[in-house]
Amino acid sequence: MSTKTHFNSESPILEVKNLQTAFEIDGELHNAVDNVSFNVKPKQIIGVVGESGCGKSVMSLSVMKLLPKGIGSIRGGEVIFEGKNIENLSDKDMNKIRGKDVSMIFQEPMTSLNPVFTIGYQLQETLFNHMAITKKEARLKSISLLKSVGISRPEKIIDEYPHQLSGGMRQRVMIAIAIACQPKLLIADEPTTALDVTVQAQILDLLRDIQEINNMAIILITHDLGVVAEMCDEVIVMYAGKIVERTDVDTLFHNPKHPYTELLMGAIPKMDEDVEVLSSIEGIVPSLKNMPKIGCRFANRCPKAMPECKSISPLLAETEAGHEVSCLLYESSMPNEGANVR
Ligand code: SF4
Repeated sequence: MSTKTHFNSESPILEVKNLQTAFEIDGELHNAVDNVSFNVKPKQIIGVVGESGCGKSVMSLSVMKLLPKGIGSIRGGEVIFEGKNIENLSDKDMNKIRGKDVSMIFQEPMTSLNPVFTIGYQLQETLFNHMAITKKEARLKSISLLKSVGISRPEKIIDEYPHQLSGGMRQRVMIAIAIACQPKLLIADEPTTALDVTVQAQILDLLRDIQEINNMAIILITHDLGVVAEMCDEVIVMYAGKIVERTDVDTLFHNPKHPYTELLMGAIPKMDEDVEVLSSIEGIVPSLKNMPKIGCRFANRCPKAMPECKSISPLLAETEAGHEVSCLLYESSMPNEGANVR
């Protein structure tokens, strides 16, 4: 594995190359992320979509080197941030990057905010970890950060505890902590899922504003294609640990190619239709233990499946400039590739 490459402003800020992340279940290793590659350029917003269990969050935890110790581990490939392979970084060096150059926000801020410390304490802790700053300066900066994420009366909120705030306010606090050190990359894992629709829209607006002001890149993980349409430049669709489609957001919405993407599109509620029950995709994502060893992992749920789909594994390949799809309908196939569930 390479350790360092030359980094310049033209380079991607993050390069994920053939990433394989495995979990140990009953003494056996199973790939939750399987041969995933993508780049994130500075200031780019990349959406990662798919249902629960598709590997989106495991992929982001791999990038942050936050996989549960002793259970999950990177088994292959590389994650290169600003030219440095994070696999080779010590915990101490990774801590210097995490929270400073790369930050993460999660779906439910109550699980990330510590209930026994004030908002101010938690903000200042991040600042002290990464900046030479006095207590007074840290308090003033925390107030200004809370203000920048749209929290009114920040001088009061700074001394309150997480349970005293609404869900939307807590998510704003999490964003304030995540951007405290002006990271170059923010990973937002379902940042609006737990919020009501109005607050969701406000948080997305806030993320976009911050992205523009701070010039940061964002990896936005979501199951919601509506959020992708609002926010993203490029989209990666994941299914069962693999990328099945990748392209820019306009192409994805106007010309989706993978049958899974088409079904995800069909599941978006339409404002002009009087539908009481939202259409959802029949069946479930295979569990890690039941992952098909050969063939297309979507075959059991795919309305366009052909007999060969169960014996030939599709490869992710470019069907036209800037549009990659992994499906036998688009010819890019090779017998038994992908049969690497261990
Ligand atoms: Fe469907 Fe076959 Fe394409 Fe898989 S390879 S998505 S089963 S058509």
